[in-house]
Amino acid sequence: MASVTLENVSRMYGAVTAVDHVNLKIRSGEFVTLLGPSGCGKTTTLRMVAGLEKNTGGRISIGDNVVSDADKGYFVPSERRRLGMVFQSYAIWPHMTVFDNVAYPLRIRRRPDSEIRDRVMNALRLVEMDQYADRPSPALSGGQQQRVAIARALVFEPEVLLLDEPLSNLDARLRTQMGDEFRALQQRLKITALYVTHDQSEAMALSDRVVVMHGGKILQVGAPEDIYRRPENRQVAAFFGTPNLLSATVKDCRPNSGQYYKLDVEGQGWSGECHAATEMPRGTDVTVMVRPENLQIREIGAANGGLSWSGEISQAIFRGPHRSIMVKTPAQTLHVETPSLADVGIGRPVTVAAPSSAAWAVRN
Ligand code: ATP
Repeated sequence: MASVTLENVSRMYGAVTAVDHVNLKIRSGEFVTLLGPSGCGKTTTLRMVAGLEKNTGGRISIGDNVVSDADKGYFVPSERRRLGMVFQSYAIWPHMTVFDNVAYPLRIRRRPDSEIRDRVMNALRLVEMDQYADRPSPALSGGQQQRVAIARALVFEPEVLLLDEPLSNLDARLRTQMGDEFRALQQRLKITALYVTHDQSEAMALSDRVVVMHGGKILQVGAPEDIYRRPENRQVAAFFGTPNLLSATVKDCRPNSGQYYKLDVEGQGWSGECHAATEMPRGTDVTVMVRPENLQIREIGAANGGLSWSGEISQAIFRGPHRSIMVKTPAQTLHVETPSLADVGIGRPVTVAAPSSAAWAVRN
């Protein structure tokens, strides 16, 4: 397996900058996901690694080999990059059996029949589709078709696997199941994978690291939990789930025992403690992020430590595992998720509280 390195990689389409000076190193055997809203440049980035698109600036390497250098006009075509690719439309051919679909990349390279048979059956075994080898492709479910597409991408024992929204044509249940299977397979084979999605929960579940993109640029790279719990800016915070984002001003900032800083902050009609990655002087305007699942509803009264707001329950929606509760406070309406057994009454005055460990501040 090989690493993938992007150095200052850009792609212009006329005056449009689709990808803007992206720097990223994907380690050998690592699963990295490009995540971001439509048009942020994730597909273009993947296609440049694939060699289906030329970068107009910067350099791309696979392992120790430079595969594209815009300054030197050097470009290795896709078929010579030892990549496996899986796309949204699985593009398996309906007039072929499962076996022939997976064998196709080997047949066009005129490999001997015995080698083709061994490799195809190995690849089909990996995705647990070997018993379907002789089936015509149309007689497969969507999930099975996607497994065939993955087997075809693996049949060459590629150094890197590239996947562009490979699960988006599947229904929600199958998407989760295939995602879990795919992650298990990637970990077993220790294959380097670059994955594109706009689905944040998919990105978190599958990846070793997530790259959040916006406007052709990387906003943040990190382990899923870091990005979720400690976003570097408001845009990244807002991109994951439906966090509460509150405006506040720093009153005091001191180093915490760990690697972070502890802040005293004050907002409109509330104050309390939270954490931040960097030191911030008194008077700094910040956004405080608190996730709905980290907020608790208590009887009216003072909460000890952390942050708290007084308000009134304005809405409660039953969602199965939890209830989404809206609490109207003088600062803003807060979104709280509590276990669905909790009983709530619309109009009830309550205190909403969060421990300081669950409140994260970023500079505006
Ligand atoms: P999506 O999730 O919708 O596929 P994306 O994040 O993958 O979006 P890209 O497809 O990489 O985004 O596109 C990035 C930007 O580049 C967009 O503004 C898009 O319109 C533009 N773009 C992409 N391909 C071309 C092209 N062939 N010609 C002109 N502009 C393009």
